[in-house]
Formats: sequence, C-alpha cells, structure tokens
Amino acid sequence: MAKENKWHVDFTGPHMASMYAIETYYVNLVSPFQRVEVAKSSLFGKCLILDGKIQSSEFDEYIYHEALVHPAMLAHPRPRTVMVIGGGEGATLREVFKHPSVEKVVMVDIDKDVVDLCKEYLPEWHQGSFEDARLELIHADARQYLEDNEVAFDVMIIDLPEPVEEGPSRRLFTRQFYQIVKKRLNENGIMVLQSGDFSLTFMEAHSAIYKTVASVMPAAYSYHVFIPSFNTDWSFVITAREGDPFKELDSRELDRRIAERDLQLKSYDGVTHQGMFSIPKNIRAERDSGTMIIDDDNLLTID
Ligand code: SAM
Repeated sequence: MAKENKWHVDFTGPHMASMYAIETYYVNLVSPFQRVEVAKSSLFGKCLILDGKIQSSEFDEYIYHEALVHPAMLAHPRPRTVMVIGGGEGATLREVFKHPSVEKVVMVDIDKDVVDLCKEYLPEWHQGSFEDARLELIHADARQYLEDNEVAFDVMIIDLPEPVEEGPSRRLFTRQFYQIVKKRLNENGIMVLQSGDFSLTFMEAHSAIYKTVASVMPAAYSYHVFIPSFNTDWSFVITAREGDPFKELDSRELDRRIAERDLQLKSYDGVTHQGMFSIPKNIRAERDSGTMIIDDDNLLTID
C-alpha cells in the first residue's frame, strides 16, 4: 500500500531525512515568498509543508501549538495584548484566544497565500480564529512591521519557519531582531519562539538561537517536546523583558492557572511542563558549548 504512495522527503541537514508516505497533494505551488504544499500523509493526515519542511500535521499539531503558546501566556499574570509573528495555520491564534483576558491580537504573517490556503484547507487548525473580532491580521514582514510601528504587547509569540537559505524568516532570528522585540514588550512582557530540532545530533541551530536570545534578554530558557510528525524532539526558547517569571511556575501553580482560566488542553499541563523544561545533562552541555550569536551580518542557515 505505502509503495503506491508518493514520498515527501524532509531533510534534517545534509546527512539525514525523514520520509512521509503521501496519499494526495491538495496544494503544490510557489508563492512570492516560499514553496507551499498541503499534503495528506498516510500517517499524520493533512500537513502544511513550507520550503520542503513540515510545519504541522493534523495528527499532532495540538502538541506543538499548546507547547508554543501556553507556557508564555500562563507566565503572564493577565495577557491582554498578544502579537503572533508568522503562525500562518491559525492554530497559534486558536490557542491564544482560549485565554479569557485577551483583548487584542495582532498577527503578522508575510505570506497572504499561505494564510488563505490554511483558511481553506486547514479548518481543523484555525477553527474560525481568523473570524475573531479581537484579531488584526496584517500581511507584512514582521521585522519591518515592528520597526515601523510604535506598538507594544504583553506576549509575543514567534512562530516562524526555520531560517532556510533564501527563506523569508532569516532576519527574524538575529540579535538585532530580538532587540526590537524587547522594546515592543510591555512591563511583565513575555516572548516565546520555536527554535528547531533538539536532538543531540542537530543542536547547532537551537544553541545559536538560545544564546542569541540570552545575549539580549535577562533570563532565557530552552524547553522541548517530542512531535511525532517532526520525527524528533522540538525546541522552544522563552524569555521575559525583566526578571524571571518562570521560576515560580511549578506544576501546581500552572495547574491552578490553567483551571482558573478554564483552558481545555489535550497535551499541556503542570506535569507536561515539568518534562518539557527538564533538559538532559548532555543536551545542556551541547547547547552551552555553542559559540554562535546570530547577527544581521552572520545569519543562521538551516539546510
Ligand atoms: N509551526 C511552524 C514550524 O514548525 O516551523 C511555523 C508555523 S507558520 C506556518 C510559519 C509562518 O511564518 C508562515 O505562514 C510564513 O509565511 C510566516 N513567515 C515567514 N517569514 C516571515 C516574516 N519575515 N514575517 C512574517 N511572517 C513570516
């Protein structure tokens, strides 16, 4: 059966790849910014693939999006204003809108084609979030937007594709970009971003992103969760404009805040959080041994 399928080959660097049996391609085009595919994998259901890399799948997108959104939103005492950078599928929005204190969300995604395709083909992801009256959706380069607009947010969630060569997100992983983000955070402001593969063999990118964020912000933490459709442990970096609000977030306090906000979650809770923030010694050592600080003159490139 699988032999009759087409195969999507997702490269993890030059020496390794994961192969996905694909039953159908719903979309296969090149937008002004990137190659866009929406495919049905035999194992993971519908998948969004940008520039050859799986962004999320129907089967387990909730693991990724709950992990990306809720640690940051729960670390803030009362998030009212949120910026989503990228996040084309609308699932990041879906998770943000679960928090009852949210009054306004600005989502800036550079690619209207991706967002329109996600609206049409991935309703299970956004579940109507694009129709929420609290949303302002802007199609622009998010760095340019932040440079041009005197805006500030309680929480900024950076849900960008990996910085592949010629991809649209490369200048949003630099020291200069995080300096702009820091200025756009309100008091108590929290920032979180997805930061790539977290396996021992492919730690360079995470290490560079973590160290770059830590060079700008007072306290930065790595965390991780296994995403079956990525075939690897996936990482995030979370930080705050001042102080260290993550210290007080033990599992009991998190479960209390989840209950207080009546969040209906499938994967993330206090116990999951403990696992996500627990990082093996050898992985910490590998991360900490990296020396790269990503700069506008020294960009990170993922193969
Ligand atoms: N979940 C994802 C992953 O694993 O990498 C990322 C999600 S989402 C599909 C990424 C979005 O970021 C895309 O819709 C893309 O158009 C958008 N994007 C890329 N570069 C951008 C930029 N410079 N400014 C704003 N949005 C950007």
